[in-house]
Amino acid sequence: MDLLNTLVEKGLRRELPTREEALAVLATSDDELLDVVAAAGKVRRKWFGRRVKLNYLVNLKSGLCPEDCSYCSQRLGSKAEILKYTWLKPDEASKAAAAGVAGGAKRVCLVASGRGPTDRDVDRVSKTIEAIKEQNEGIEVCACLGLLSDGQAERLREAGADAYNHNLNTSEATYGAITTTHTYADRVETVRQAHAAGMSACSGLIAGMGENDADLVDVVFSLRELDPDSVPVNFLIPFEGTPLAKEWHLTPQRCLRILAMTRFVCPDVEVRLAGGREVHLRTLQPLALEIANSIFLGDYLTSEGQEGKADLAMIADAGFEVEGAGESTLPAHRADVAAASTASTGGCGGHAGGGGCGPCGDGGAEAAAPAAGGCGSAGVCGTAATEAPVPAGVGSAETGAAGQAAPGEVRSDLVAVRRRGTGTDLPPNA
Ligand code: SF4
Repeated sequence: MDLLNTLVEKGLRRELPTREEALAVLATSDDELLDVVAAAGKVRRKWFGRRVKLNYLVNLKSGLCPEDCSYCSQRLGSKAEILKYTWLKPDEASKAAAAGVAGGAKRVCLVASGRGPTDRDVDRVSKTIEAIKEQNEGIEVCACLGLLSDGQAERLREAGADAYNHNLNTSEATYGAITTTHTYADRVETVRQAHAAGMSACSGLIAGMGENDADLVDVVFSLRELDPDSVPVNFLIPFEGTPLAKEWHLTPQRCLRILAMTRFVCPDVEVRLAGGREVHLRTLQPLALEIANSIFLGDYLTSEGQEGKADLAMIADAGFEVEGAGESTLPAHRADVAAASTASTGGCGGHAGGGGCGPCGDGGAEAAAPAAGGCGSAGVCGTAATEAPVPAGVGSAETGAAGQAAPGEVRSDLVAVRRRGTGTDLPPNA
């Protein structure tokens, strides 16, 4: 297929595809799906080998947000019966982080609900970062606290934050239909502030909110322009009690095409398979590892994910290996930029602008230590599964061959509210 040959060649050269080529990936048929995955896999292996980076979410403050992001179970007016709690203490957060590290995670993503932090919040998160770094040698920490005010990115960087996550989520054209309490431009500005402060930028998207193919291409091209080190790709978890509860538009095949398009546009960037993978990819999750080089381990912010042990088994069965703490996530040309930025800013992170792709909330430069995912992000706010046996859809009767939900349905059986880990007396999933 000429299209795929062209995209592989461009990906290996880190050359930007045209919008038409990106749209054509989303328009491929199911008969062509494995060819699409194989082509994206060639680009993935060129820049990331067979490594999978594990990231671990710690929800520092859950629920009761004054913002109205339609996809989010923590939004203003959400009827979702999620855990609600105020700030974890530094030692509580550090203990939660340690569980993720013990499970194989090399990055901890500290997320808090809310429009953005107050200066007092930045103080408490700074203490939390210091506690986590003291007690977990070599761990990368990413903060995701929403929109930043002047000087806050620098303070987080000084406290040791390696990365900052803030997702663009959707295209500029559709942003107003998803959220009214802040703007797309606000989000772009926060990603830029994180860059400027020397943090690795993590910024991504949420697919499945009713957008069309052009919107998806728009947001991924915007991300590339922002040049984040990591791009989390979330698939909407239609949480009962939120305005998007009936928006079931994704199939496993569609999810794989979206991931492949993202990989072609952002060839050398950490593409993270984020919230919603269990719900929407279901038994095709291992194929996504051929495209994405990073995943979240265990549970999400307000929903439960596949068991951590099942994640590790899936990675091994698919012939991949968990990336070690001493290994660089990013390819050398990006890691070198990160190191130069560290030297000049006193921090880690490192972006050059150009070259790479770009948006969101997670991931980051390497060498020094980036981080990922969070609130402003979304996909991870939602997600799935309850107890050990039945993760958000994997292997359950409802999510097997007949597991496809239809638009207009509320499928609470496919979305399990988190009932373990932080905010509960039960051990975390890691
Ligand atoms: S995504 Fe973040 S800012 Fe938006 S409603 Fe959820 S917690 Fe609040």
